[in-house]
Amino acid sequence: MVNGSNGCRTEGPQVAKSLAGWYPARRGSIILRRHQADGLAVGLLGPALSPPCHSPCLLLALMLHHIQSEKLGPRGEAMAAAVGTCVHCGFCLPACPTYQELESEMDSPRGRILLMKSVLEGELDARDAAPHLDRCLGCLSCVTHCPSGVRYDELIPSYRAYAREHLPQPPAGLWTRVRRWLAHSTLPYPKRLRVALRLATWTRPLRCCVPRALRPMLELAPKTIPPAAVLPRQSRPQGPIRGRVALLAGCGQQVLAPEINQAAIRVLVRNGIEVLVPSNQGCCGALAWHGGYAPRAAAFAAAVLRAMPEDVDAYVTTAAGCGSTVKEYALVLAGSELEDAARQFSQRCMDISEYLHHVGIASPPPLAEPLRVAYQDACHLAHAQGIRQAPRALLQQIPRLELVDLADADTCCGSAGTYNIEHPEIAHRLGQRKVEAIRQSGAALVATGNIGCLVQMQQHLEKAGLDIPVLHTVQILDKAYRDRQL
Ligand code: SF4
Ligand code: SF4
Repeated sequence: MVNGSNGCRTEGPQVAKSLAGWYPARRGSIILRRHQADGLAVGLLGPALSPPCHSPCLLLALMLHHIQSEKLGPRGEAMAAAVGTCVHCGFCLPACPTYQELESEMDSPRGRILLMKSVLEGELDARDAAPHLDRCLGCLSCVTHCPSGVRYDELIPSYRAYAREHLPQPPAGLWTRVRRWLAHSTLPYPKRLRVALRLATWTRPLRCCVPRALRPMLELAPKTIPPAAVLPRQSRPQGPIRGRVALLAGCGQQVLAPEINQAAIRVLVRNGIEVLVPSNQGCCGALAWHGGYAPRAAAFAAAVLRAMPEDVDAYVTTAAGCGSTVKEYALVLAGSELEDAARQFSQRCMDISEYLHHVGIASPPPLAEPLRVAYQDACHLAHAQGIRQAPRALLQQIPRLELVDLADADTCCGSAGTYNIEHPEIAHRLGQRKVEAIRQSGAALVATGNIGCLVQMQQHLEKAGLDIPVLHTVQILDKAYRDRQL
């Protein structure tokens, strides 16, 4: 008996066993080129499902699995449901940045889903699957492009959390472990991050003496670190109050670009919204959650839930990575006593652009001069939260601002949390592609909605010798309201 999509249970053990058994035996040899995998169900099964063979019974067979979700912990059901929904059609492949770069089926969404399925069924050693799963950016472009509604966004973090706790991990070198420890012990803590960035700035001239695994951290550290900023606990608008929100201030963003939250508060207040910034909220847990450190992510999430007041209209985030994580808190806290509270909390979370668009804003005064601005979709805004129109609509309210889309605007820029530290080569190539798209757009300014993308694009633009600033959408609105030069 095996499980199919939509929870149906179907007789078919021989088919499932043969499919699951086929892959591990050949895992080293199925590297497919992109042209081989275009279209329907080509790739892992090779000639068995090449385009002339669109047999419904074979496609049905591909949906089957025998994952015992009840044995996989509180997120087992989510993982089994995602695997069971995939019909292996391959429509997600062209949209996957790692597939575009590596042209390998195993580094595509479909390949990764089959890898996770095989591991969860006990047919494949997790260590063999790990390199391909580690290379996943978590950009969720595959979710947007999947016609079957596969919840890859629930599958990959749940799998990583399960694998980290229960499955053997591939060996990591000393300096790789040091790098991971450094990232997870500094990035979520603003004071520690500030010290670490200062040290990185001082050490950068000596980078040839630093172990290779640590060099990307030095290279990514900004040349200058803005002074620490303290956000007001409460900001009240003058005149009638149209709404009341609590701001999730984030962690790394407060060190790298504190002006984003300051701008958000000014824009909210300018539009009649009272803003609370609760103390002791800490990191939202995004870094830990996407890295598979579920208990740590749950502890961060619980602290956020405790810190946030009840009597607000919405919880507003200014970083897409944080926003997508807080909207997943029910999964982060699955199986705990806080799961229901987390679900309710998530339903009231909104990205700043989503909230401003929802309540409506006053039009800023015209810019002094016409300005062409390119909008880059942050993956965790566009793909994870489905927010594409709101930031564009807000920017289009600024007179004399010409908004243009980048080619491949919703393809990842290569930032992806700590991806540009863990996989600098792929991240670099994606960053270069984004720079080229910006150059071709003729834009004088780039707008985006996530601090990671902002830093990644800024650094690659500087490396390419292009003097094009990258700002958060809310910074552009703020400057327009205050008649500041953009
Ligand atoms: S994830 Fe979706 S688009 Fe990709 S192969 Fe599976 S069903 Fe098709
Ligand atoms: S999350 Fe992004 S990198 Fe990972 S499989 Fe999906 S599209 Fe590819």
